[in-house]
Amino acid sequence: MKTIVIAPTSQKKWLETLDIRNQDWRKYYLLPYRTTNDSKLRILQFKIIHRILATNKRLKLFGYKDSDLCDFCKTEIETISHLFWECGVTKQFIRMIFSYLLVKCNIHIQESMVNMIFGILPIKDNLVTNNFLLILKNYIFRKSHQAKELNFTEFQKYIEHYQSIEESYLPYEIWVKKWVPVLDFWK
Ligand SMILES: [Zn+2]
Repeated sequence: MKTIVIAPTSQKKWLETLDIRNQDWRKYYLLPYRTTNDSKLRILQFKIIHRILATNKRLKLFGYKDSDLCDFCKTEIETISHLFWECGVTKQFIRMIFSYLLVKCNIHIQESMVNMIFGILPIKDNLVTNNFLLILKNYIFRKSHQAKELNFTEFQKYIEHYQSIEESYLPYEIWVKKWVPVLDFWK
């Protein structure tokens, strides 16, 4: 029997703005599950991919908010791509984080909307950066919903906190693989 795979509508919607190869979709769906055990980070990424994240655009649509404007720049509509990539405030913050990561940890993340929204392939070679990006997105999302500013020092503490939680339960060799390359980020 032939299996018919129906692409979710979210996939079609992403393809209007992003160039994603057919064979990569499955990998992007798998990426959060291969990268972290943290259920909140997995759910966040699931919601991003399926375009069901509670952005202001969505909250206004369902009547939970009066304004659909971005809480950071207050000028553009807060969509997923705006919040994590197109917003000038977010972009400035991401650039600062990426350049610090390069200087302190010698880790280079290619600045692109696909990398920021979906993560970096292949999964097995990008555990450290994908994990870092998931936590960065969670931080950005939380701050926007608290209507607070993005803060570099606070983010350093935020990511260090994830590291210390994982240190308490991950097998040592996995913790080393995942965290040792970025330990200097908050030191
Ligand atoms: Zn904005």
